[in-house]
Amino acid sequence: MRLFLGFAIVAVAAAAAAWLVDRPGVVVLDWQGYRIESSLAVVLAALVLVMAAAAVLYQFWRWLRRGPMIAGRARADRRRVRGQLALTQGMVAVAAGDKAAALRFGRQAELLIAESPLTMLLSAQAAQLNGDDLAARRYFAAMLERPEMEFLGLRGLIAQATRDGQTGSALNLARRAFTLRPDAPWLVTALFDLEARAGNWAEAGRVIDHALRNKLVAPENGQQRKAVALYQMARTMRESDHGTVARKLALESLSLDPGLVPAAAFAADLLLAQGKRRRALHLIEQTWALQPHPDLGAVYEAALADEPAPRRLARVEKLAGLRANDRHSRLMLARAALAAGEFDSARAALEPLTADDPDAETCRIMADLEERARGPAYARTWLTRIEAAPSGPGWVCEVCDHGVADWSAYCDNCQSFDSLRWGRLNGDTRIARNGAADAASTSGRTESLPPAQGAAPPPPPPDAASVPVDGPERAG
Ligand SMILES: [Zn+2]
Repeated sequence: MRLFLGFAIVAVAAAAAAWLVDRPGVVVLDWQGYRIESSLAVVLAALVLVMAAAAVLYQFWRWLRRGPMIAGRARADRRRVRGQLALTQGMVAVAAGDKAAALRFGRQAELLIAESPLTMLLSAQAAQLNGDDLAARRYFAAMLERPEMEFLGLRGLIAQATRDGQTGSALNLARRAFTLRPDAPWLVTALFDLEARAGNWAEAGRVIDHALRNKLVAPENGQQRKAVALYQMARTMRESDHGTVARKLALESLSLDPGLVPAAAFAADLLLAQGKRRRALHLIEQTWALQPHPDLGAVYEAALADEPAPRRLARVEKLAGLRANDRHSRLMLARAALAAGEFDSARAALEPLTADDPDAETCRIMADLEERARGPAYARTWLTRIEAAPSGPGWVCEVCDHGVADWSAYCDNCQSFDSLRWGRLNGDTRIARNGAADAASTSGRTESLPPAQGAAPPPPPPDAASVPVDGPERAG
């Protein structure tokens, strides 16, 4: 097309030239006494030359004007390259924990490419690395203004608020982040913890349901969280007199985590209160096989309170037989035997416990037993030992070894979730609650004692209050 146009122009020009040559004429310019006389062809040629010169001049002028602009663009390109380099080096410094370099490259990048989202991230991270929380917060807050960086900024602010113990604002930020990215695994876990610690167990339950449905948590982890949330919701329901709902929630919690002792004791207590005694007893037996616990024992004893002592003993023997060598089994058995007047059975049940630095509860039952079986003089030895005896087991955090009397979803000391295991309070015991599937196994559980050995220490002599009993002989 362009070729055709070129040919057309040349053809027209040639035709015009031929036409002019065929029709010669003269152009006369008469101006202020000057007179120029020339042929038309020459004048036209001169005109074309002048126009060509003007075009060249115009191009030159444009080049002069655009020069600085081109130079400026080249300078900006160089800055961007240097900025990108500073950014990369800064990220590497952050990864390496090099505080000074992170800060230096962060500032460089900020000067060279200030508006880049990555620069803001680097500056925030460098500020964090240098312990400048205020500056870090400023960068994260600035990120909230930009939609593409909002989530990143929220993540930084959530981490800061959580670390500073500002759980209220952390919760609000996490909820905002959840509306942006409900598919972020770290966020659902963080949001669950924040809702749970604020006591919003129903919200926490919804979050973990969402996480389980969308496979954002490992199934065991998610189910453990859901079990605890359901148990806490059950407690709230009972407080507001919704006993049936509370029972359903507690039993659902146990179906997810059968070893959750507080939920089992709670559910059994509810069943008992609602006249479902058989189910209560059965539930306690099921849980006892996994983890004997005095709270379970207390509900069991309450459920059997109306039974005559011998029948009560027979039922407790069944329960204790599920974990025959466990301390709590032996204590329950001893109490029931004592109530039924079966002193020898009570003594046999307690024997292994008295061999191993007996705790206060053991001393108390022994005193009771001796009082009734052999008289006050025999009881006195045990009564004097109660004061100095070690306390029984309690809930011990498997993360930080902190011990507490009452179970809670979060460790008071290290804030770990569902980390409390029933065991000795001296901190050297590690117990796996959901570990052993073998209920009869004596290992891997609480302070299960070795089987009763025939060689238990002899009973203390009368009036031997000053004689230390079973001092050097330790079973474990
Ligand atoms: Zn802890």
